[in-house]
Amino acid sequence: MPGYYQLMDYAKSVENISAKDEQGRSIAVERSNDNTWLIAGIKNRSFFVKYTIRTNKQFVANSYVDSAHAYIIPENTFLYIEGHLDIPVSVSFSFSKLWKNIATGLDPVARKTNEFSAPDFDILYDCPVLIGNLVELPSFKVKGIEHRFIAYNPGNFDHILFMKNLERIVEAGASIVGDIPYKQYTFIGIGPGRGGIEHLNNTTVSFDGNGLDKPGAMNRVMNFIAHEYFHHYNVKRIRPFELGPFDYDNGNRTNLLWISEGLTVYYEYLIVKRAGLADAETLLADFNNNLNAVENNPGRLYQSLQQASYNTWSDGPFGTQGQEPGRSISYYDKGPLVGLMLDLEIRNATQNKRSLDNVMQLLYWKYYKKEQRGFTEAEFQAACEQVAGIPLTAIFEYVYTTKEIDYTKYLAYAGLKIEKQNTGSTEKTTIQKLKITRMENPTALQTAILRSWMGE
Ligand SMILES: [Zn+2]
Repeated sequence: MPGYYQLMDYAKSVENISAKDEQGRSIAVERSNDNTWLIAGIKNRSFFVKYTIRTNKQFVANSYVDSAHAYIIPENTFLYIEGHLDIPVSVSFSFSKLWKNIATGLDPVARKTNEFSAPDFDILYDCPVLIGNLVELPSFKVKGIEHRFIAYNPGNFDHILFMKNLERIVEAGASIVGDIPYKQYTFIGIGPGRGGIEHLNNTTVSFDGNGLDKPGAMNRVMNFIAHEYFHHYNVKRIRPFELGPFDYDNGNRTNLLWISEGLTVYYEYLIVKRAGLADAETLLADFNNNLNAVENNPGRLYQSLQQASYNTWSDGPFGTQGQEPGRSISYYDKGPLVGLMLDLEIRNATQNKRSLDNVMQLLYWKYYKKEQRGFTEAEFQAACEQVAGIPLTAIFEYVYTTKEIDYTKYLAYAGLKIEKQNTGSTEKTTIQKLKITRMENPTALQTAILRSWMGE
């Protein structure tokens, strides 16, 4: 499943597969490997395949059906014909009359009920489907484009306030790149749980609105939703070269998930701050969490950000937690910190005229819009250096090697510093509590960089 960097054994859930020709005669179906079935003698003829999908795990990357709703992950549900991912496809759903709504990013087919189409299987696989008695919140438009939030079992919360906040998130996120590339966008709330997955014109998010009025809860949810939303740029369109076309059999490995995931964490914090939904202290506290996670993990001396990106298929998204703890890192922690150093270096080098936002714009217009492809590792660094106007070799050592980050140097560009406090020790390591704070007498440039970075 694109966006979920683990091999999912969806083929295991396929049962009772059978095939028939146009006259209704059975055709033999033979399993040729773990996720392929061979149907002989059908070349240039119509045929029908029927199968059952067993669902048993309620999770953002798995289809799940119960008496109250159906959450359909297309990769977990629809077989494709080998070598023909590029053919147009339509899909129709039939379900209980007691269920009233269907939410998906797929295009509805005119004059047909519950029938949708996609130009190819990649787009079909990019559009999960949620069916049931769903709650649709009042939609809003940004630059004339409609944004909807539709959810199953979303709990009790202030719908108006939530959608106002979400509108500010979309505005702040879209203003980083300055172009909205979709015709409509749908946030699909799949019920309480953990995790979300990004798509081109939609995202599925585990969502529970109960308790949103408690301190900090709205901020956490907005960070999470800003993250999934910003992914429609960073990873779906501004993407590593290796992440397309997708190889549904083997997965696509890349050294660049620290950009796709780490910089999306970086931007989720900034989006929420620039949207006016968090104050400066909350923004710095977000980075403090990553800072303490990285600096208290001995794995930072063993695995680079580049290696963590490539190895996530075996390490898991947060590094190895089991057999070999302390030998790996999470790009969700180190990625946003390197993003911060990179952004401040660019801002300082250009007298605060340019920033990482300009890098995202350059990648979007050059590689997504013009060349319609992903960027390579070298092209990413070149884009950063073009915007900065100076070589960024020292910063990229924090990506390619395990060199310790010189936070003091880069934070100073924005009039920030680090406070250290030792809070205890385990057998192997001293636990440090680190905190990013403001310098007492910043220069005019330091103040200007801090304010424009925060969107003030
Ligand atoms: Zn993500």
